[in-house]
Amino acid sequence: MRPTTGFLEAVRLVAFANLPVTVGNCRSLWWPPAAKLGHAKSGKGRPAGDLWQAFSRTVLAYLPPDDLAHLGTDNHRVTQWTDLGRNGKRISPGEFVVVHRHAQEWLDTICADGDLTTIVRTLQRRFQATQRLEAQGECTRVSLKFRLSWVPPKSLETELHGIFASTASSGLWPRFYRCDSVDCREFAVARQALRPENYCSTACRVRASRSRLGPMKKAAREAEKRHFRARVTELRGTGESQAFERACKEFGYPPSVPPGEARPRRRP
Ligand SMILES: [Zn+2]
Repeated sequence: MRPTTGFLEAVRLVAFANLPVTVGNCRSLWWPPAAKLGHAKSGKGRPAGDLWQAFSRTVLAYLPPDDLAHLGTDNHRVTQWTDLGRNGKRISPGEFVVVHRHAQEWLDTICADGDLTTIVRTLQRRFQATQRLEAQGECTRVSLKFRLSWVPPKSLETELHGIFASTASSGLWPRFYRCDSVDCREFAVARQALRPENYCSTACRVRASRSRLGPMKKAAREAEKRHFRARVTELRGTGESQAFERACKEFGYPPSVPPGEARPRRRP
């Protein structure tokens, strides 16, 4: 299924929220200024910023270049974030960290099925459209041409509000989730309705199923050891001189294992 523009915005939002932003590294989101997705280096061969790379990696994992081409989206629009703060000047590291944390908190509340009253009220109060309606031609219905053009947002906070608003109006909030792998917990967006368990990647799904099955397998091995020891004791009680060897044979273990280190091997 082809992605929609709303889905692209949802991907941008989760990719942004997952960034490991600190006061020290926040400038690396804006380098290189007009790089294309998928090209880690640009300009004079300088490497792109860490945050920018992490961001574009996530976007490309969701939306390969073909999908982006289908969306017909201006590359700059996908890869770049406004670097303005509330005062209209370049955003300070401190403000950037705060704005980023707010985006994480909002997304976390949405993912956790929390109360959205504050988020909705703030959006209603502060949302500013990032699209403008352009009309060209004579004002008759045949010659008039309408077009929605993108208006650069006034600040990073405004841009994020716009993304929350557009994902909400695309009905995508119920698709946001945090990866169920306890080692991951990254923000993610699903292409379909959420399942009882949701993982951001195949690796996370495999890791989660292993960590679930691990303790079960360990318990089974311990139980088998107990049964083995009980059987040896039982055979000794009947006066069997080769109790250990016989028990090994019954359980399918090699007879060479010395009694002190009797460790039941997992049978195929
Ligand atoms: Zn994950």
